[in-house]
Amino acid sequence: MARAHIVIIGAGISGLTAAVTIGEGVDKLIAAGKTIARPEITILEAADWIGGRARTDVLSSGVAVDVGPHWFHGGAKNPFYKWANDRRYDLGPISIDTATRRFNVSADGAVKPEQREWAMERLYEMYAIWKAQHPDEDISLRQLAEMSKSRVIVAVAEERANNWMAVDSAEKVSSDEFWGDDAGSGGMQLQDGIEKLITAMTSEAQYYKTDIQLRRVVQAVRKVGKSFEIVTDKDTVEADYVLCTISVGALKSNGVQFSKNVHSQLDPVLAGMTGARMTKIFVPLRPEFFTERNIAPDTFVTLYEQRHSWLLHLRTDGKPLVTIFASGAMSDLVEKSHYVDIESQMLDLLDRVVDPDLTGARDNLEGRIHITDWTTNPYFLCAYSAMLPGVKRRNPLVIGNMVFAGEAFVQSLKKSPSQMTGAWESGRIAGQKILRKLASSSPLPVGERVPERSEGG
Ligand SMILES: Cc1cc2nc3c(=O)[nH]c(=O)nc-3n(C[C@H](O)[C@H](O)[C@H](O)COP(=O)(O)OP(=O)(O)OC[C@H]3O[C@@H](n4cnc5c(N)ncnc54)[C@H](O)[C@@H]3O)c2cc1C
Repeated sequence: MARAHIVIIGAGISGLTAAVTIGEGVDKLIAAGKTIARPEITILEAADWIGGRARTDVLSSGVAVDVGPHWFHGGAKNPFYKWANDRRYDLGPISIDTATRRFNVSADGAVKPEQREWAMERLYEMYAIWKAQHPDEDISLRQLAEMSKSRVIVAVAEERANNWMAVDSAEKVSSDEFWGDDAGSGGMQLQDGIEKLITAMTSEAQYYKTDIQLRRVVQAVRKVGKSFEIVTDKDTVEADYVLCTISVGALKSNGVQFSKNVHSQLDPVLAGMTGARMTKIFVPLRPEFFTERNIAPDTFVTLYEQRHSWLLHLRTDGKPLVTIFASGAMSDLVEKSHYVDIESQMLDLLDRVVDPDLTGARDNLEGRIHITDWTTNPYFLCAYSAMLPGVKRRNPLVIGNMVFAGEAFVQSLKKSPSQMTGAWESGRIAGQKILRKLASSSPLPVGERVPERSEGG
């Protein structure tokens, strides 16, 4: 019996989940007596690490940091975490950022903290009323805010578009997605870093004989008869099924060429989404810096300026660190600027925070500041996806034997699209879809039925 070859583009959470789902699913089919040849699974990954956006780096101070995702939103109820836990993966110690200590600092000209709280409440009330009247419609956060005729509410909507949805304008924010998203800052995290989970997933994918090839940049996918030719920077690979998991930013840049037929179905989906831009800046400090100032672990500070706001997360549980989040246009600016300039601006920024007292960080640096490059790295070109108003996301987009999955391809807002959970959910559904295709192209023993599994979403 001929073995099918499945090529997965991208070794992020969605690609690894798909490989595990297919491997495990084939085992179950064989155990159930189905005649099926174990497929060959190859993951082609452009970067030189496994995990994609889920990556843990070690700073020059020796502190391990998650440079992409680190919060499992929803804590122990998070379905991705539950899945990993059920599989007995070794995830190491776990801690929770509760975000209970929050400080808001408003620079001159920015909305005052108490006005912001009021504006958010009003905005939500307006959404609830509007939604009750238009249950099947969506509206941009900007339009919603403008209905209030309040300058403060509009300003707060723009702040949230920028610092939470990480896009440049509230016009690009779907109210349904904004209010439907259950993710907030804070959540459960792996103390040893997200790498722990990626290592466990990699081992399982490899147990199913998945061949993960790093530094293989896919440039084009061509349909040749019933199969595919995948052109990489090194050679051309043939496949029966292709699963593409690259980000919306990378897809929109046309770094990978697809056939016209694929573009005609993919492009309208991409047109409904935008790439949210976010950069993390890590500032490692001497442990005494926090103890001297009596700063409690897990403190959040948001510094609001007129045009941008910075979220600062202070981690003081023995691993002293300030993580600064730059979003939207500021993310671009930070990543494209000279390192020395950004370092100096970030230390100036900390000097402006007096409650809690972050002044003098410059003299307390322990190692170099670390700046991520998700917005400018050609294999990502965004931190995550955001849905434009009035648009529906697609569950994995299936075009014959080619499937598009990843955090952007999750239809149900309850499944946290754009987050790790969404990437996992999408990879799982995509894996099941390919599995079903594989099973239906293999002969069935008499009386045997291929199990139909729930797709969720
Ligand atoms: C700064 C930041 C903070 C975040 N915070 C959180 C958080 O706290 N909680 C949370 O749940 N989520 C968070 N996220 C979102 C989360 O990281 C993503 O939703 C998830 O990791 C996406 O996984 P994926 O498999 O869909 O995509 P990816 O991880 O992007 O995987 C796709 C892979 O494709 C590869 N690739 C791209 N182009 C090519 C090519 N041409 N050829 C071959 N390979 C290619 C890429 O290198 C990448 O490895 C955050 C993201 C960022 C960037």
